[in-house]
Amino acid sequence: MLIIIIFLIVHWYASVFAQSFFLHRYMAHRMFIMNPFWERFFYLFTFVTQGSSFLHPKSYAQLHLEHHKHSDTEDDPHSPHFFQDVLSMMINTGRIYMEFKDGKRISSSPYIQGLPTWNRLDSLGNNHLVRLAFCGIYISIYWVFAPTPWAYLLLPIHFLMGPIHGAFVNWCGHKYGYRNYATNDESRNTFIWDLFFVGETFQNNHHRYPHRLNFATHWYELDLAYPIIWLMSKLRIINPCSSSLSSK
Ligand SMILES: [Zn+2]
Ligand SMILES: [Zn+2]
Repeated sequence: MLIIIIFLIVHWYASVFAQSFFLHRYMAHRMFIMNPFWERFFYLFTFVTQGSSFLHPKSYAQLHLEHHKHSDTEDDPHSPHFFQDVLSMMINTGRIYMEFKDGKRISSSPYIQGLPTWNRLDSLGNNHLVRLAFCGIYISIYWVFAPTPWAYLLLPIHFLMGPIHGAFVNWCGHKYGYRNYATNDESRNTFIWDLFFVGETFQNNHHRYPHRLNFATHWYELDLAYPIIWLMSKLRIINPCSSSLSSK
């Protein structure tokens, strides 16, 4: 069972880190820049770690900017204050994401059209057979290492890793927890469960300072992704934009 638990933890954190680092902080907010090699490396990293629930990066960025623009209004793609339950919120999120992906909706943000794309990888990641192949890999790992059939109950977490992260962050990040700043929305911060979401549930801090690289703003908060990103900047893998480094 140890190997299964390690696999689950590694898959969880690699996937949520890809979402937070590449999709959110890089694609949606341009908090730092990378050279073409590292950009392709983390594009590939996102494809591999998100696997069966791969999100098209440019479409994610457009969806996310809609959230910032209309946060907790009826035009917000996923405000928990306009949906009765998590499932209906995520169905609406998926619908708007697909509209961006299919080109039926285009973001008004000026830099969206300049965002990087990798057409071959995007079409691979969005191919249903490739998604099924990733599910097959997860099942094979369980087939080899699961000591009891009960362990297979964990498999849906692997299949739906991205939507599970999104559901939790979007719902809880605007519904439960404390507020450091009087923003115009209902965004909240939490600390304990953010340890599972590497900074993503410090929503109130992030909505107040949307270009700040470190999502923790108080001494008692810890954005788990930030020390890794800080190290990357020291190793010159990324080059943070000056506005992302200001203390607030
Ligand atoms: Zn938010
Ligand atoms: Zn954001």
